[in-house]
Amino acid sequence: MKLTIGHLYPNLLNLYGDRGNVKCLQRRLQWRGIEGDVVLFSGGSRIDFQKVDMLFLGGGSDREQELAGRYLREMGGGLRDFVESGGVLLAVCGGYQLLGNYYRTPKAVIEGLGLLDIYTEWKPGRLVGDVILDSPAFRSPVVGFENHGGRTYIGAYTPLGRVRRGYGNTDEGEWEGLLYKNVVATYLHGPLLPKNPEVCDYLLERALKRKYGNAAGLQGLPDELEHRANEYMAERYRKGERM
Ligand code: GLN
Repeated sequence: MKLTIGHLYPNLLNLYGDRGNVKCLQRRLQWRGIEGDVVLFSGGSRIDFQKVDMLFLGGGSDREQELAGRYLREMGGGLRDFVESGGVLLAVCGGYQLLGNYYRTPKAVIEGLGLLDIYTEWKPGRLVGDVILDSPAFRSPVVGFENHGGRTYIGAYTPLGRVRRGYGNTDEGEWEGLLYKNVVATYLHGPLLPKNPEVCDYLLERALKRKYGNAAGLQGLPDELEHRANEYMAERYRKGERM
């Protein structure tokens, strides 16, 4: 068994250790004896969507995001078809914003892919800090770090979770990220997956099911340490400590 993980524009979108998400996907496959191939796509390269099972799109500064947005739009409908047919996509922060209709900054309107009917508006006052969410999709709290000027309005989409600490999609600190088909879009860097092994397995399970019809190969792991790290962060928050 093998999954191919495509990392989109790592030279443009790679903030706060986003690359760790790809490593985590690969490692948790390997630990189960499943091959995890990582393919790096630089701007302008052609993607054969038949040959990738998962895609990762990280975060970036507004300038880099603008460039990445151009490359993404040049790809045409390939990414849309991938997503609509159940392809697994993790999009973080700038990558999340680019899936929407637009991201309006004080300098420009960065056109998005319109893959999701959402939009992002920049406002003064960056939303920075540690975040904890409760998500109905996961037993453990989802923990991470956010740093963004954009506020994302997701309409009727299902959010990834309810914010217990931090801001999330907007200043209100109510909801964070979104789930759509096999897309997980979120503001959480940090990187997200090593801090939240359940979220990593959620993505792997979906990719295996799409490719092989089942995820039987995804056995449990002796990953008590990873889960303890997650609990530790959530616990410190509960006690009101800085993380
Ligand atoms: N440039 C975007 C913003 O500030 C995204 C930042 C990021 O990816 N961390 O909102």
